[in-house]
Amino acid sequence: MNKESIKNCPNCHEEVPGSYEICWNCLYHFKTKVIVQEFIEISEVIEEE
Ligand SMILES: [Zn+2]
Repeated sequence: MNKESIKNCPNCHEEVPGSYEICWNCLYHFKTKVIVQEFIEISEVIEEE
């Protein structure tokens, strides 16, 4: 049988399927170890002036 691995998000401790790169609950990115939402905010902070 093909058992799907489960990993726990270190940020919110939610159970996330092993194939997920981003926590579905808090948007924590397992590879880069950052929360994607914060990454987007950083991008939005950049203003043109
Ligand atoms: Zn999480």
